[in-house]
Amino acid sequence: MDHFDYRYGQMFCEDVPLETIASEIGTPVYVYSTATLVRHARAIISALAMLDDPLVAFAVKANPNPAVLATLAGEGLGADIVSIGEYRRARAAGIAPSKILFSGVGKGATEMAEALSGDVLQFNLESIEEARTLSQVASSVGGTARIAFRLNPDVDAGTHAKITTGNADNKFGIPANQAMEAFRAARELPGLEVTGVTVHIGSQLTSLAPLESAFVRLGELIAGLRSDGFNLKIADLGGGLGVPYGPGQPEPPSPDAYGQMVARVTKGWNMRLAFEPGRLISGNAGVLLARVVRVKPGESRPWVIVDAAMNDLMRPALYDAYHHIEAVRPSGDRTVANVVGPVCESGDTFAMAREMDRLKEGDLLVFRTAGAYGAAMSNGYNSRELTPEILVNGDNWALVRRRIDLAEASAMPLPGWLSA
Ligand SMILES: *Cc1c(COP(=O)(O)O)cnc(C)c1O
Repeated sequence: MDHFDYRYGQMFCEDVPLETIASEIGTPVYVYSTATLVRHARAIISALAMLDDPLVAFAVKANPNPAVLATLAGEGLGADIVSIGEYRRARAAGIAPSKILFSGVGKGATEMAEALSGDVLQFNLESIEEARTLSQVASSVGGTARIAFRLNPDVDAGTHAKITTGNADNKFGIPANQAMEAFRAARELPGLEVTGVTVHIGSQLTSLAPLESAFVRLGELIAGLRSDGFNLKIADLGGGLGVPYGPGQPEPPSPDAYGQMVARVTKGWNMRLAFEPGRLISGNAGVLLARVVRVKPGESRPWVIVDAAMNDLMRPALYDAYHHIEAVRPSGDRTVANVVGPVCESGDTFAMAREMDRLKEGDLLVFRTAGAYGAAMSNGYNSRELTPEILVNGDNWALVRRRIDLAEASAMPLPGWLSA
């Protein structure tokens, strides 16, 4: 459930009409709902309440907006980070290092050094090579880094190939048959303390079965490591739980069903469990609000050209992702149309042959479920500005990222040979 709904014939976010935001800020613009963020954070916390002291660490890459992070920090969430930029954002939002997990396949030595000096809870490592680098970093400052290795459980997550991460052919994690060797090697390295294990098999998972298989394999690894003398404390089960994207799209399992499965599979592990939900928390807490530039006749259906494009919301171009499209003021007149942006790429297509409200030039529309991997992935292709972001809270709202002109933000004087 979210807090975008119709009142008096037009769409509101909580108590704010989207028309107000469009007229004051312009379009395209991302709009996030505080009540929805809070609701989702509480839903996952309550679904895991039967566990002993679980850590719920928001995957910052899904939505790194400072106001979103501060809202989630206020609900007690930690952070799963994949770069030092995300580390800084998490800290600035008030998230304690003791709630920060540092994931990612290519952490650099300077990133490791900064996160280590902040004393993050655990580095989730993806190779013994990475452990050697972290060992050198830690030794050089006389510190100790708590580490886990990420298991690649070789399960098919049943999601889009580009958001599958737990197959043997993916770059992520360490295969089960090499994991013991990696843990033993890390045990010998100075500056490292082996504290955990982790797994994350992909995103937008709409079935619990692959997650359960991955956790069972993680349990086998834990048993093996314990009998080899490892004192393990944290099992980080990653993120990946899917969200509903709209009619006709696969229905994901509920957070409660996920929590019950986790409790059943991890029974007897005697470890603190950590979770890294991203999409689950912010996906349906945001929409991308756009305006129709014009409607162009097409061969079989009209092209509805909107002022948002693939640079603002990459998911359809990148993953063939479905985003539900709704008019801000639906007329009740339904039609079938193609919805595209103005960018010079055929991939700049949000929907083909979509049954939707009939829209005309100047009308406002929303792309639903745009609060995760939306603004976070935006870029300035075609010299377009980065989309502003708004956070709504009841009848209050604020600009939480301004519209950014990258030409201005990245301006340098011309090199000497061009400016003579
Ligand atoms: C992306 C990612 C997540 C979050 O995935 P969601 O599908 O958004 O929940 C969690 N952990 C790791 C390691 C990731 O790379």
